[in-house]
Amino acid sequence: MTTPLLGQMMDVPLNVSSLVRHAARYAGDTEIVSRRVEGDIHRYTYRDCEKRAKQLAQALIRLGVSPGERIGTLAWNGYRHLEAYYGVTGFGAVCHTINPRLFPEQIAFIINHADDSYVLFDTTFAALVDVVAPQCPKVKGWIALADEAHIPALATPVLSYETLLAAEDGDFEWPVLDERCASNLCYTSGTTGNPKGALYSHRSSVLHAYGASLPDALGLSARDAVLPVVPMFHVNAWGIPHAVALTGAKLVLPGKDLDGKSLHDLMETERVTFSAGVPTVWMCLLQYVRETGKRFSTLERTVIGGSACPPAMLREFEDVYGVRVIHAWGMTEMSPLGTLVRLNWEQSQRPLEERRQLMEKQGAVICGVDMKIVGADGQELPRDGVAFGDLHVRGPWVIDRYFRSEASPLVDGWFPTGDVATIDRDGFLHITDRSKDVIKSGGEWISSIDVENVAIAHPAVAEAACIACAHPKWTERPLLVVVKREGENVTREALLAFYEGKVAKWWIPDDVVFVEQLPHTATGKLQKLKLREMFRDHVLPAEIAGAA
Ligand code: AMP
Repeated sequence: MTTPLLGQMMDVPLNVSSLVRHAARYAGDTEIVSRRVEGDIHRYTYRDCEKRAKQLAQALIRLGVSPGERIGTLAWNGYRHLEAYYGVTGFGAVCHTINPRLFPEQIAFIINHADDSYVLFDTTFAALVDVVAPQCPKVKGWIALADEAHIPALATPVLSYETLLAAEDGDFEWPVLDERCASNLCYTSGTTGNPKGALYSHRSSVLHAYGASLPDALGLSARDAVLPVVPMFHVNAWGIPHAVALTGAKLVLPGKDLDGKSLHDLMETERVTFSAGVPTVWMCLLQYVRETGKRFSTLERTVIGGSACPPAMLREFEDVYGVRVIHAWGMTEMSPLGTLVRLNWEQSQRPLEERRQLMEKQGAVICGVDMKIVGADGQELPRDGVAFGDLHVRGPWVIDRYFRSEASPLVDGWFPTGDVATIDRDGFLHITDRSKDVIKSGGEWISSIDVENVAIAHPAVAEAACIACAHPKWTERPLLVVVKREGENVTREALLAFYEGKVAKWWIPDDVVFVEQLPHTATGKLQKLKLREMFRDHVLPAEIAGAA
């Protein structure tokens, strides 16, 4: 046996602290601007951020927190939350971001499952803490992200974050950690069953930050001012808090006010060039600019993901406002970025409509992640843009098991995403459904996302969901549930006629129901399970428009 010839390069472990250290040294004066829950705008720099993150690390160590312990956060996008991203992980503890929009019972379940020893919370969640704290007896302390003067009256005894930090001097060296150590913990939104934990490592987080920053991924640079609307409590705000430090971009954190006006004001005053969020947020922002006649004077690009970006939204951003949309797909189990739309040289020469069709898909993988689609027999399906299959992924920032679960979710070393998709010869992914949401009509699959996208393109439609409805002959047929835009009107017949020529005839819904609002999950996704329950007894009209 010959001994392999080893490279002779430094064995520097990939640690999350290296990102904030880099930003503090090489983008030290670059600003981090936050709209605080106290109501004002706070400004400081990466240099200040690293110092306070070190003070936080010292404070936690003084409280007796050891490496590996989990520290929960219940917080908006703000500078103190960012300090937790670096201060907690920097000395080896695990930053566990919790979605405050979940039900209190789910939050208590998550805190207990993660075994959080301390929980940092924004004061807006004080009432929530009082409900959850009695159900989490193992939490040693609740730390309000505020000074003493801004802590509201609570039944739960709490510590002040600012008082804890004031007792420390920030004279602290980040220790060198084994890069395989856990850094962050995020739970899936858990639309079915209990939420499951994805435990990222320092290595996976740093590699994800590099991948996310690439020109054909988020494409961040030191010339950007980045406003992540996607919350830091949902999959690490798609890795943006790490990627901005890596690239030295200015960071603008919007706090709790995510309505169209608040976001637009902040984008304009801070001259934001780049943003990211789920379609529901952009729906509100677009409605605001549409109604007020406002424009975006500096915004160049926005990433839309978390749910399929409706083509109508993409077109409005680009055609009316000149903002480039980057459609992205990913999931908690993938840190979360998997694919983003980027056109290569040849694709960008194609006619507009062809380019648009590509941009409406979910895009191509970031190098590092690989994907394939498989049929019911587990065999890989062709990459022809036609064959539908279960999407499997693998890569260094994809989980190999859930936190505190022995069973491996992997199939032949690949992670089954639960999404159904096609992959075309350009390597572009097109998500057609969650596997449990797919509509099976007469043995054939109908993509509920494609059906919804047509409805949303109608000027009178604000939001639409397509679900399966039981049918005696075809097993399932599509039912469209629609929220109309304020002040607009459309009939069932007009909406069905709108489908003519846009999808295969047998994909046209059998019925349309108008509702005031649609149910959403805590991360802004349509809650189709709930919708299916709501319309379980819905009787479809006897005549089927397209199925015959
Ligand atoms: P989460 O783990 O909460 O981020 O949810 C991940 C799931 O959201 C994915 O498995 C998809 O079902 C869905 N999803 C995320 N991005 C997109 C997208 N661009 N288009 C369609 N579905 C998406």
